[in-house]
Amino acid sequence: MKNTYDVCVIGAGIIGAAVARELSRFNLKTVVVEKQSDVSEGTSKANSAIVHSGYDAEPGSAKAKYNVAGSRVFEDWCRELTVPYRRNGSLVLAFSEDGLPELEKLIERGRANGVEGLSILNQSDLRAREPRVGTDAVYALLAETGAICSPYDLTIRLIEHAIVNGVELKLNFEVNSISKTDDRFLVSSAQEVIECRVVINAAGVYADRINDMISQDHFCITPRRGEYWMIDKALSPVFNSTVFQLPTAMGKGVLVTPTVENTIIIGPTAEDIDDKEDVRTTAAKLEQILEIASRSWPDIPRNRFITAFAGLRAHCDRGDFIIGKSSDVSGYYLAAGIESPGLTAAPAIATEITCQVVEELGVSVTDSFLPPPPAIESFRESGNQRRRELIAADPAYGRIICRCEQVSEAEIRQAINRPNGAKTVDAIKRRTRAGMGRCQSGFCLPLVLKILAEELRIDPADITKAGEGSEIISGHLGGDYHD
Ligand SMILES: Cc1cc2nc3c(=O)[nH]c(=O)nc-3n(C[C@H](O)[C@H](O)[C@H](O)COP(=O)(O)OP(=O)(O)OC[C@H]3O[C@@H](n4cnc5c(N)ncnc54)[C@H](O)[C@@H]3O)c2cc1C
Repeated sequence: MKNTYDVCVIGAGIIGAAVARELSRFNLKTVVVEKQSDVSEGTSKANSAIVHSGYDAEPGSAKAKYNVAGSRVFEDWCRELTVPYRRNGSLVLAFSEDGLPELEKLIERGRANGVEGLSILNQSDLRAREPRVGTDAVYALLAETGAICSPYDLTIRLIEHAIVNGVELKLNFEVNSISKTDDRFLVSSAQEVIECRVVINAAGVYADRINDMISQDHFCITPRRGEYWMIDKALSPVFNSTVFQLPTAMGKGVLVTPTVENTIIIGPTAEDIDDKEDVRTTAAKLEQILEIASRSWPDIPRNRFITAFAGLRAHCDRGDFIIGKSSDVSGYYLAAGIESPGLTAAPAIATEITCQVVEELGVSVTDSFLPPPPAIESFRESGNQRRRELIAADPAYGRIICRCEQVSEAEIRQAINRPNGAKTVDAIKRRTRAGMGRCQSGFCLPLVLKILAEELRIDPADITKAGEGSEIISGHLGGDYHD
C-alpha cells in the first residue's frame, strides 16, 4: 500500500530540516526522506559553521538575498531551539597595502547587500582585538554580525521540532525514481513508494540527480571538497573572532576560527572532485592549509590536532542558489546549488519555499503548533549545584561515559529516547559530543556501544558507526560479556 502525503522533502540536511519545520506550522501532511541512517549526515555536518554576515555574495544574487535574511534571524532560531550560537564577529585580513582596496570592495558589496556593522581596522586596532594574529596583517575588514553556530545541532533540533508537529521522517530511504501523473508524484526507493502533491528537492550534492528524475531543466552540481584541521579545545581561547584571508576565485579562502564548543578549526581547501561521496582528507591539502593559515596564525601548534575532516560544497554550474518553483514541473520545488553561505541562508530559504508551497496548496496555519521538545541538559555545561540536582534526579548523570567531553550516561540514554532518537555511534556523537574530544572516542566507544545495544535491544554486533556497512565489531569471541 502506498503512503500518501501533501509534501515530500528529499534530504535531511539543514535545508530539508528547516523547510520541514516551517511546513509543520501549516495543516499539511509532510514527510522527509533521507538516504542516510540519520539527519545531517551530508554537508551540514562538515563545514565552517559560520553565520556569514553577507559581504561576500554578489549583490542581486540569491546567495546575497538569502544570506543576509538568514543571518538576521539565525540567532532567534538558535535561541528557540536551544542551539549554541555566538556572535564573535568575522575579520578578513589583508597582508599588504594592496589588499586595502580589496577590503573596501568587500565593504561596498556588503553595504549593497544591506549588511550593517562593517568597518576597516588598522594594524593596531586589529592587534588590540586579536593579539595572536600574524604581524604581516596590516588591515582587516571587521564584520560585527558574523557569528558561529552548531550546524548539525541545529539540523537535529529542527527535525525534532518538525516531528513533534506531525512531520514524518523516513531514514534509509534513498530516492531512486520519481514519476508524475496528473497532480500526483510517486517518489520511490528500493523498498517503498510515496505518493504526494508537492516534491521539494533539498538533496545537497545530489540535487542535480534528483532534478533529472523530474525535470528537463538540467543543471550540474560538482562536489567541491573542503578539508580542515581541528585543534583541541584545551588551547582556547586563541582567537575570539573568525579570521579569514581575502577570498579567492574558489571561495572564501582559509580561515581560523573558534567553534561554539571552543575547539579551533583551520581550513577549508577548495578542490573540485568527481565522487559525490569522497570526504577523504589528504596529506597534501592538509599541509597546504597549514602553510596558508600560518600567515593568520603563525604559532599553529602542530601537536594539538585532534582530527581532520572534509565536507563537499554543492557547486552549481549556474553559479547561484536555485530556490523555489521549478521552471517546468508544477508542484516541484528546488533548494539546489546550496553551497556556502547555505547554512546561514537556511532559515530564509525555508521561509521562502514554505510560503510558495502554502500559497500553491492553499492551506491554513495549524492551531496546534507545539514548541520544540526540551534539549538534552548537558552535565558539562552545568554548574556544581545543578550537577548535584541532575544526579539526584537521575543517578545516570553521575556516571561519566566520555571523559574528554564529560558526557554522562543519562545524556546518552536521552539521546536515544527522543524524537528521531540516535541509533548509531555518530548520531550519539552529534547529539551529546561523546567521542568528539581529544581521544576521539578511544575510551568511550565500547561504553556507548553497550548503551546503544541495551536501549535499542539489539546485538552489539549490529550497532554501526553511521549506518549499514559501518559495523564496529564483527561478532562474538564467546564467553560472558563483563563491564
Ligand atoms: C567546506 C565547506 C564549508 C562551508 N562553510 C559554510 C559556512 O561557514 N557557513 C555557511 O553558511 N555555509 C557553509 N557551507 C555551506 C553549507 O554547509 C551548505 O550550504 C549546507 O550544509 C547545505 O545543506 P543541504 O541541506 O542543502 O545539504 P546536505 O546537508 O548535504 O543535505 C542533503 C541531504 O540529502 C540527502 N540525499 C541526497 N540524495 C538523496 C536521495 N536520493 N534520497 C534521499 N536523500 C538524499 C543526503 O544524504 C543529505 O543528507 C560550507 C560548505 C562546505 C562544504
